Amino acid sequence: MFLWWGEEMIQFYNDAYRPSLGEDGKHPGALGQKGKDCWPEIWHIIYPLILQVQTTGEPTWSEDQLVPIYRNGRLEDVYWTFGYSAVYGEAGEVAGVLVVCHETTETVLGRKRLEKSAANLHSMILQAPVAMCILTGPQHVIEVANQRMVELWGRAVTDVIGKPVFNALPDARGQGLEEAMDKVYRSGQTFEASEMPVSLIRNGIAHVVYQNFVYQPYRDNDGNILGIIAITTDISEQVLAKKQLERINEQLNIVNDNFRNIILQAPVAMGLFLGENMVIEVINDSFLKLWDRDRSVVGKPVIEALPELEGQPYLQIMRDVLRSGETYYADQAKVLLARHGRLEEGYYDFINQAFRNNEGQIIGVVVVAHEVTGQVLASKELQTALNQARLSKEAAALGLFDMDLQKGTRIWDPRCRELFGISHQGDVTYERDFVGGLHPDDKERITRIINNCFIKSVSGGVYDVEYRTIGRENGGERWVRAKGQVYFDEADRPVRFIGSVLDITEQKNDELRKNDFIAMVSHELKTPLTTLNAVIQLLSGKVSEPFVTERLKTADKQVKKMTKLISGFLNLSRLEAGKIVLEKERFNIVELIQTVIDEQRMIISGHEVVFDEPQPLFVSADKEKIASVISNFMSNAVKYSPSQSQISVGCDNAGDFVKVTVTDKGNGIKPGDIKRLFERFYRVDDKAHAHIGGFGIGLYLSAEIIDRHNGTIGVDSEIGKGSSFYFTLPLARDYYTPSKVDNR
Ligand code: ADP
Repeated sequence: MFLWWGEEMIQFYNDAYRPSLGEDGKHPGALGQKGKDCWPEIWHIIYPLILQVQTTGEPTWSEDQLVPIYRNGRLEDVYWTFGYSAVYGEAGEVAGVLVVCHETTETVLGRKRLEKSAANLHSMILQAPVAMCILTGPQHVIEVANQRMVELWGRAVTDVIGKPVFNALPDARGQGLEEAMDKVYRSGQTFEASEMPVSLIRNGIAHVVYQNFVYQPYRDNDGNILGIIAITTDISEQVLAKKQLERINEQLNIVNDNFRNIILQAPVAMGLFLGENMVIEVINDSFLKLWDRDRSVVGKPVIEALPELEGQPYLQIMRDVLRSGETYYADQAKVLLARHGRLEEGYYDFINQAFRNNEGQIIGVVVVAHEVTGQVLASKELQTALNQARLSKEAAALGLFDMDLQKGTRIWDPRCRELFGISHQGDVTYERDFVGGLHPDDKERITRIINNCFIKSVSGGVYDVEYRTIGRENGGERWVRAKGQVYFDEADRPVRFIGSVLDITEQKNDELRKNDFIAMVSHELKTPLTTLNAVIQLLSGKVSEPFVTERLKTADKQVKKMTKLISGFLNLSRLEAGKIVLEKERFNIVELIQTVIDEQRMIISGHEVVFDEPQPLFVSADKEKIASVISNFMSNAVKYSPSQSQISVGCDNAGDFVKVTVTDKGNGIKPGDIKRLFERFYRVDDKAHAHIGGFGIGLYLSAEIIDRHNGTIGVDSEIGKGSSFYFTLPLARDYYTPSKVDNR
């Protein structure tokens, strides 16, 4: 307490007042001092108040009033809450003024600091780059919220400031936010949440907003919780993007599990391409093989894997499917692919189909491809062959036949029908029209040759035969020459058989006359030769004179040679007349070879013949004719290789066949001649052979004989090294093991 008394305003104060005067201040001088002398620095503030009390007797009250006083060695800003009241003298006059005061400097400065920091906080919040607000009190009244926050809420600032947050945003209720805020307000513990979905109504439409939250306690200087500072980040976009990614991944996992396996195991080229860039997601080996690429292309956009597609329409086609969802079918599409070290033109059937995710959105394209280059080229070739055939047909009155083994159709043109002597216009049949139209002597041979034509490995599809037709309806017998080609697919299956038939009756008649002549001359020669042979044999037994014996041996050799020659002509004429009949028997071919070698040794001198005899091998064949083939091979080897050189004979078991080989060390045969050696009367035009006798019928007869036994005949030859003539024959059926099936 402090008192001013009397006119002079003499001062009295108690001990409780003393601290207000500070250290080293007005105390003790102020005690009993005149007011005006004690407080010159503030007299202008306090005197009017004192005067007011003195004149009116009314008390005054001032709160947190700045009244700087001199203390602690300086003039200090001091805040006071104080009241002046009148103290009356005996006469009832105002004799003094009582001061009741306490200093509020600390409180005032504290409050000022708080106000300043609040103002700072507000401005910080308003400028923050994230959504922020301060909610005060237990009702979470929105004290301040920045633009981002009100945007997030979808409200106007004026609608929310000063309102409890859940009144301003009733749609935010019931999502766990009240509880979180209450807890922060009560406990002072920070609350954090990430990717929390909050449903809010913005402009009348319910939105789910994904938010990261931080609720922090908002405290005063003394640490008392005033409210909550809320910081919110709208991460809806990121969350949605993430969710979408997760969904795609999920779908891709489904792809992994099911579709991937389907693709990888597909028996055709198949792949899955994703997105606008057609990234290779899954692809099977067949597809990679078709492209001639390896697994490193997986995960790359198609154009990176196949840069050569640039400028070709196929990538665009895939993109169109991705956009439209419409399946695209390509039929024999021409595609250029860099394969096998060059840019290759290929033909493909393919299907591009949209690949959808579980929601039905198209996310990629499934491609199934099948290469048909072989077929396309074959059909082109075929077309050319057909055109050529038509052309030559017109030129030479050729009959034309065209058999489609896939469609099962057989087309014969009018000339072809004429040559077979049939007049009907309907479909021709194999049995009735073709086989039925063949001369009985040619039936077996021609049907066998045709069967072989359909086996690529046996004939290469080449068909070139002469036969007689009987003229089924008009009885007009003709000789025809038929030439054709069987076309095969990639699996070597016959698909088409096209050819022509030419009437050679006239030529043929010529041939017949020639054959008849040869047959007659040969026959006439045979009789004197047989007699001559008998005479030589007879004399050989009787004569011991060495000179004569030697001459007789020579004569014997020459007679044997001549006999062979003549029997060759006879066989030829018989063959030409279709009179060769096989007389099959089961025999050991190893034994037969040995016999032929022994016979040959009698007429050859100078050559060394070696035969590495194998185990017995049984065939069912015409023994005499097979012997003539072997002896023809041997006598050729002798004729066409230098004297003293070696001739080796081989006999091997080759699967279901036996292979007999005669190898010489002669000059060899040129590839161009090899093809023709087995033709009738063909002889290699070679000066070295000019002096060697022969007519070019031995190999022709041999080929015909082997052909009739369902065997093959051929030669391997190297110029300057020698030749190796061989033939194969089927082993006797009982000879092979039971597990093997004769499928010929
Ligand atoms: P030829 O009576 O003329 O010998 P072939 O039909 O037996 O009749 O043989 C046809 C042609 O094949 C022969 O003229 C010869 O040019 C050739 N030839 C056959 N065998 C051999 C061989 N071992 N070495 C070289 N050329 C051969």
